[in-house]
Amino acid sequence: MKARRRTGPTDVVKAIVRDRDGGACVRCGTRNHLTIHHRVNRGMGGAREAWINQAHNLLLVCTVCNGWFEDNPRESYERGWKVRRPQLPTDVLVMYADGREYRLTPDGIRSTTAAAAR
Ligand SMILES: [Zn+2]
Repeated sequence: MKARRRTGPTDVVKAIVRDRDGGACVRCGTRNHLTIHHRVNRGMGGAREAWINQAHNLLLVCTVCNGWFEDNPRESYERGWKVRRPQLPTDVLVMYADGREYRLTPDGIRSTTAAAAR
């Protein structure tokens, strides 16, 4: 019997992301219809790299903004909501609904650019 392939983040990682992002969509701040968004797409065949499903590659977003990212790739890349290979999610700051940019780490830490530049 073939084991079901896991292609998404674990429940633990999802909880970390939810907690880090304050239970609100990173783009619009709503608390409704939230889902987990991958900054670097998983691509064909699911996750090849371990970091694909780690916290710094994931954002808590609402389903509206999740669709908006796909329709507005240029702005999404500029604001760090999407990341284009070969850039890594640690390299690109993310704009949050509070208008500030944050650096994300794999262990679920979110720091402002001022703190990150120290
Ligand atoms: Zn939203």
